[in-house]
Amino acid sequence: MSVSERNLKRSRVAKQLSAKERMGMLKEYASEFLSAKHYIDTGFSIQEEAREIKMRILQLFNATEKDWQNWRWHLKNRIADAKTLSKIIKLASKEIEKINQVSEIFRWAISPYYVSLMSPTDIWGPIRRQSIPSILELYDHSGVDDPSAEEDTSPVEAVVRRYPDRLIINATNQCATFCRHCQRRRKIGKQDYSVSKGKLKEAIAYIKENEEIRDVIITGGDPLLLSDGTIEWLLSELSQIEHVEIKRIGTRTLATLPQRITDNLCKIIEKYPPVYIVTQFNHPREVTPDAAKACDKLIKAGAVINNQTVLLKGVNNSPHVMRVLNHELLKIRVQPYYLFQAKPVRGTSHFITSIKEGLEIMRALRGHTSGLAVPQYVVSAPGGLGKVPVCEANIWQDGNGGILLKTWEGKYVSYSF
Ligand code: SF4
Repeated sequence: MSVSERNLKRSRVAKQLSAKERMGMLKEYASEFLSAKHYIDTGFSIQEEAREIKMRILQLFNATEKDWQNWRWHLKNRIADAKTLSKIIKLASKEIEKINQVSEIFRWAISPYYVSLMSPTDIWGPIRRQSIPSILELYDHSGVDDPSAEEDTSPVEAVVRRYPDRLIINATNQCATFCRHCQRRRKIGKQDYSVSKGKLKEAIAYIKENEEIRDVIITGGDPLLLSDGTIEWLLSELSQIEHVEIKRIGTRTLATLPQRITDNLCKIIEKYPPVYIVTQFNHPREVTPDAAKACDKLIKAGAVINNQTVLLKGVNNSPHVMRVLNHELLKIRVQPYYLFQAKPVRGTSHFITSIKEGLEIMRALRGHTSGLAVPQYVVSAPGGLGKVPVCEANIWQDGNGGILLKTWEGKYVSYSF
């Protein structure tokens, strides 16, 4: 062996040694998550538990498998009283009293499907926390009804516009399950309603008159609780406006009522491309085989699905839970898109984490997992000034214990929680 060959071999061996050392380090980084993830439930790992609760619900309502597959049956039989709920999952008598107390102020209702995802025994479980009223809702004195000032950024009744080229249409206040952390809980009110055709026509007229609007988000409430006819009318009207390039539908039914994704709905979505579905999965327990099937149908119909998780104390404010959630979403072809700092909505402050905690979760994701599994962490700036991406590089102390955010317009606003 020549001297140069010997040197080459030596350098190769040295590189391999250093690579092995690096691999050991990478394995060590991964090991904590690998052991933690076994303790995190997903919608796939709880299938047996969920099936048992489903059977209990069917028996209670004297219903059939066919009913269970029918989204209208779920809507008609949303569970909205503590006594009925206590026949399905364990509730302490004190808890029943508290739920009744809260329901005098804040409405609640849970789809039977979403109830089937609850742990029968864990009273602090993530599905329960997101859907069963908590007495803490009544102790919140800091939250406001409309933290994003939607009412001040509404040029016509059904429209909210915060950006130059896009806007939202609020088409209904109905939801399959009323999330306890909802940013629009002021709209939930006392009863369900759909926005009248006249108001929707006004919204369409506004979009027609404003040629800079290229992206329209239909939201609510949950617009997929509208009839197929209304959804088709809206998509068809928007598709006829030349300057509207994309339509988005904001829905949480993929997590709370996947039965809503029927063949007929998919046919409608397929007819009016491009349609983006913006959904909200907050915990891996919500990523079930039924949700996967619904996503698959939408994707086959040509829709693109993005997820907006809300960072919620006691639900998903853990780096490991967040990582499992995003991995589970990618497996069902849903792209983690935003991680929202929960807004200071009246009755929800017990869900709000600190920005510091959100940043720590983001740090634990970046590099430790694929970029595809890392959403953008955003705060909605007060006063309807839009979303602000949050990372160490773009926030400053405001001198009053809060932080200073720089909005997309270059305005500085204080934010504290
Ligand atoms: S589905 Fe959406 S609009 Fe309805 S309660 Fe939940 S977060 Fe609010």
